[in-house]
Amino acid sequence: MHTDILICGAGAAGLTLAIDLARRNVDFLLIDQTREPFGGSRGKGIQPRTLEIFEALGVADRMIAAGGRYPSQRHYAADGSHHDEAAIIASAATPAEPYGEPLMLPQYLTEGILRARLAELGHAPQYGQTLAGFTQDDDGVSARVISADGEHEVRARYLIGADGGRSFVRKTLGVDFPGESLHARAVVADLTLSGLTREVWHRWGKGGQQISLCLLRGTPLFQLQMPIPLDGAFDLSDAGIAAAIRERTGGDDIQVHAVHWRSDYAMSARLAERYRVGRVFLAGDAAHVHPPTGGQGLNTSVQDAWNLGWKLAAVLDGTGDALLDTYEEERREVAASMLGMSTRLLDAARERGDLRRGREQQQLDLGYPASPLSLDERGDDAPLRAGYRAPDASLLGASGQPRRLFSLLESGDWIMLRYEPAAAPVIAPRRGLRIIDIGEHAELRDHAGHLRRAYGFAAGDIALLRPDGYLAVLTHDERSPALAAYISSSLRQSSSPQ
Ligand SMILES: Cc1cc2nc3c(=O)[nH]c(=O)nc-3n(C[C@H](O)[C@H](O)[C@H](O)COP(=O)(O)OP(=O)(O)OC[C@H]3O[C@@H](n4cnc5c(N)ncnc54)[C@H](O)[C@@H]3O)c2cc1C
Repeated sequence: MHTDILICGAGAAGLTLAIDLARRNVDFLLIDQTREPFGGSRGKGIQPRTLEIFEALGVADRMIAAGGRYPSQRHYAADGSHHDEAAIIASAATPAEPYGEPLMLPQYLTEGILRARLAELGHAPQYGQTLAGFTQDDDGVSARVISADGEHEVRARYLIGADGGRSFVRKTLGVDFPGESLHARAVVADLTLSGLTREVWHRWGKGGQQISLCLLRGTPLFQLQMPIPLDGAFDLSDAGIAAAIRERTGGDDIQVHAVHWRSDYAMSARLAERYRVGRVFLAGDAAHVHPPTGGQGLNTSVQDAWNLGWKLAAVLDGTGDALLDTYEEERREVAASMLGMSTRLLDAARERGDLRRGREQQQLDLGYPASPLSLDERGDDAPLRAGYRAPDASLLGASGQPRRLFSLLESGDWIMLRYEPAAAPVIAPRRGLRIIDIGEHAELRDHAGHLRRAYGFAAGDIALLRPDGYLAVLTHDERSPALAAYISSSLRQSSSPQ
């Protein structure tokens, strides 16, 4: 069988990539070795930047309706007293940042909503299909896939290893995965229980005796997390988990009714040496693993896929292959700093049993200013630079109806904003580029000045937004030769015939 893109792994990264490719009409195959979708809570926090991406993919509202806010943390002392504190340092939503805090939604519900979106686009993951080997040549990748029906070959132009921390794709490529073991092991489990209010996230103990029970929004479940000794077997049976809860909470007020999913894992922080080898790419946990303390893994995995999707589509459409090199350039650096941050938070959690997440974890300030795809002609003192996340803004349509800048990103196109332009566009229309004028008598009106303030716009300014919502070009001059060259190289093959 032939396809353009073979995606190995239907977790958060693989599903996000599949949705992005499906909406771009790219031919792909999404396989997973499991017989059925993963059913545990694992990554339960969706950060504001990821919500923005999910909005562009048409699933944010569905997820928000299915999940809910993070509750306060309740810390119990040995004498049974307790104090509450916020788990999240939330900020108010603003016109530039529409999501002020993370959403709590268990990973199996997040992935279920992604699968539903994929189905709406006419696709589904193929379960029970294990990637067992592959080779690549100048034109593509030949993959060996094993299923209950036997073995078959898939020929693809590119292979994406979104196959998790133990990535078969990474190992087959021989890509190193340096880093460190963090000498921490933990249990995570989803339970039904009685004897605890569902209004807060309950925490007991310090160091190796910690235990936490957090309600899981959108479900009747609690998620248990607790550190366990590095060595030796730990009793993960229902009775063993109930006994650990009794011992670490110091009482029998909590009755465990059922354990729906459980897992124990050792924590490490590792980053793949390379994200690309020829026609094969690594995305998500296949490229980086780290402790769950910062709530970053699923989010970073989704954002890897989001960075890669439009680039694969563009290169299949004729843009030069060098665009795909920017995937590693942009995303590996983001993962490297996220690894450090998650490890620092793990140290704080070990010492204080405390886990507070704020601005740094929301991923709104991540960007690619050093990327070769970022062209800034406005000067170093501008508050917003090429490569940064493009802020949202509340605008008005030509007849006064409310519009948001982010709704333009749902198209998956490049967007060129012309702020209060004095003349007709210099750049000719072409496929994949939307040219939008903003002004008093233009297509969109910046009636409240949100766009002017967020972008530092003056009349005549231009912002070119990438399909993934980062700023490609900022310039005062629409006739800038660098802008013209940027557009003709980035959208080279898509020129309109008119
Ligand atoms: C306790 C815990 C709490 C966490 N909390 C958070 C959190 O709050 N926020 C957050 O962002 N992240 C969190 N994470 C991390 C998050 O769960 C992962 O980062 C995320 O699942 C990575 O997604 P992925 O798609 O890259 O990989 P995975 O979800 O691991 O998916 C990989 C898929 O590849 C498939 N596969 C593997 N090998 C093959 C093969 N050879 N052939 C075919 N298919 C294959 C697997 O079956 C699997 O379905 C947490 C993790 C844990 C353990």
